[in-house]
Amino acid sequence: MNLILFFYFGSILGSFFQSLNSRMASQDSLTESQLNVRSPRSNCDKCGHQLSVIDLIPILSFLYLKGRCRFCDKKIEAQNLTAEIIFGFVFLFLSFNSFNTFDLAFNVLFFSFIFAIALYDFEYFLVPKIYLLFLLFVSCSFVVMHGYLINVIFASVITGIIFGMKLILDYIKKEETFGLGDVLIIFCLGLFFEPFSFSLILFLSSILGLLIFGLRFILLNKEKKVPFATIMAIGALGISPLG
Ligand SMILES: [Zn+2]
Repeated sequence: MNLILFFYFGSILGSFFQSLNSRMASQDSLTESQLNVRSPRSNCDKCGHQLSVIDLIPILSFLYLKGRCRFCDKKIEAQNLTAEIIFGFVFLFLSFNSFNTFDLAFNVLFFSFIFAIALYDFEYFLVPKIYLLFLLFVSCSFVVMHGYLINVIFASVITGIIFGMKLILDYIKKEETFGLGDVLIIFCLGLFFEPFSFSLILFLSSILGLLIFGLRFILLNKEKKVPFATIMAIGALGISPLG
């Protein structure tokens, strides 16, 4: 029962972050007057009809309404459902791998923000600053409360090296090779994970990144972008049982 509740709590947050993401993305491309920013309620993307509680229950609404809007009968974007399911499983996974409530609380906060970034980066190839600030805040609080000085030193050194590599690569290629957001995520990971796990996350993410880059290059021929934040979030979740 607890596990179902945990999965569902995750999917509610997934739904929240997905709607926040699409609002932030449209705010980037539209002027504020074009946006219905004052309305706290959600609307159907297609017909604009205001949605009620029954339309907004994660996963269940989608199944009950068979993936269509109650008002215009048009298909609802599957991204919402995907985000709800992903967050549900992330939370389920964390509930198995947290040793105590304190651990669990920090894991929930850290992985909520890193997966919110992951969803955004996967769709738009961008890391929202606001999530990054929260992630940094959670990581710093974690490291201060535990007094893990070794994490701070190791994270600073590795992030410094990676930032240096970025500057050199940017200079050689005359374009931004990877974003500053990715560098800051690496720093947060270094604070949150002990040096061995952190190294493993970076190693796994690099391999996964190269694999995706290679596959995209071969299959799509010109698509060079890789959502590196998404890859690191997955890597971190995979390594999280190690602490
Ligand atoms: Zn509609």
